[in-house]
Amino acid sequence: MIKFLDLHKINNRYRDAFEASFKSSLDDAYFVLGKNVTHFENEFAKYCGTTYCVGTANGLDALTLILKGYIQLGILKKGDKVLVPANTFIATILSVLHADLVPVLVEPDPETYNISVASVKANITDAKAIIMVHLYGQLCNVESLQKIAETHNLLLIEDAAQAHGAECKLGKAGSLSHAAAFSFYPSKNLGALGDGGAITTSNPQLVDVVKLLRNYGSAKKYVNEIVGVNSRLDDMQAAFLNIKLKTLDADNDKRRKIASAYVSGIKNPKIKLPFYDTTKAHVFYAFVVEVENRTEFTQFLDAHKIEWLIHYPTPAHKQQALSSFSNVELPITEQIHKKIISLPISPVMSTEEVQQVIAILNSY
Ligand SMILES: *Cc1c(COP(=O)(O)O)cnc(C)c1O
Repeated sequence: MIKFLDLHKINNRYRDAFEASFKSSLDDAYFVLGKNVTHFENEFAKYCGTTYCVGTANGLDALTLILKGYIQLGILKKGDKVLVPANTFIATILSVLHADLVPVLVEPDPETYNISVASVKANITDAKAIIMVHLYGQLCNVESLQKIAETHNLLLIEDAAQAHGAECKLGKAGSLSHAAAFSFYPSKNLGALGDGGAITTSNPQLVDVVKLLRNYGSAKKYVNEIVGVNSRLDDMQAAFLNIKLKTLDADNDKRRKIASAYVSGIKNPKIKLPFYDTTKAHVFYAFVVEVENRTEFTQFLDAHKIEWLIHYPTPAHKQQALSSFSNVELPITEQIHKKIISLPISPVMSTEEVQQVIAILNSY
């Protein structure tokens, strides 16, 4: 069996360091917003190239708190429209709803799967913000989106939950907008051993307000300035992330190496390969191909013991939870969702496994 993502193998590489940090936390007994969180926030900000990082409980909260933070600052107001890609993990859209804002779903570019610049322009009328999702680990067309945001005086926010370490000439994911959200869900390129998230930004006012929001609206114990939530990055998870951050770049290099091997090795007209410009602008959270007959293809993969996933099987606007969006016309998003399938890719896949996947796919 070729695993889609071997989380045991990925994390077992750090077993000794994890165990030492657990013992040290048990001894210190400072479990909430302790020194591991502060250390991680400093290191991750440095890594992304921003002035600040604020840890949160998960990626959804990171997005929601950015939006609520801008409402607190008076830059957004409830009911404002926010452009979001229609083909994303549902969390992107939920964050907008949780902040009492209005999501406007925008079609993707069918080649990169990222939000289409032309569709953004067509929908811009009275929007106040854009959330760009670096889907599957590939940076959006950042230069164009920054230009649009500047011209129209819009907030530009990144959902970088799949793009830790992705990099272009303008900088790293997390530093390419006014504020960015990360998730450290275990399967992400930088994954904790549980839930975790973070906000990166270089705006000190936003940092002050999201630090309040994540901690019951409180900077001083039992003094509550605003209506906050409880969404702190767990200190133990921060300790694990401090260990894993050191090898994130090496892991991303491995993912790109596998992607390059797939792109040059898979020669099958029935399988459409993803766009990849060979730069560091892609960290391959997922390697997504398209096939016409997906049911047949998944049966073939099952028969050859290759694990697969679909990111994502149902477009967000067709989910029951978002039924008020079910009549929005999004033909490109719907087409994509019918054909995409994600193949195994991870920093612990062996060369033999990669060659095996290539050979099997070429025999399809
Ligand atoms: C994982 C993910 C999130 C949400 O992160 P959680 O930590 O699971 O809350 C948001 N957006 C995208 C694109 C994701 O992949």
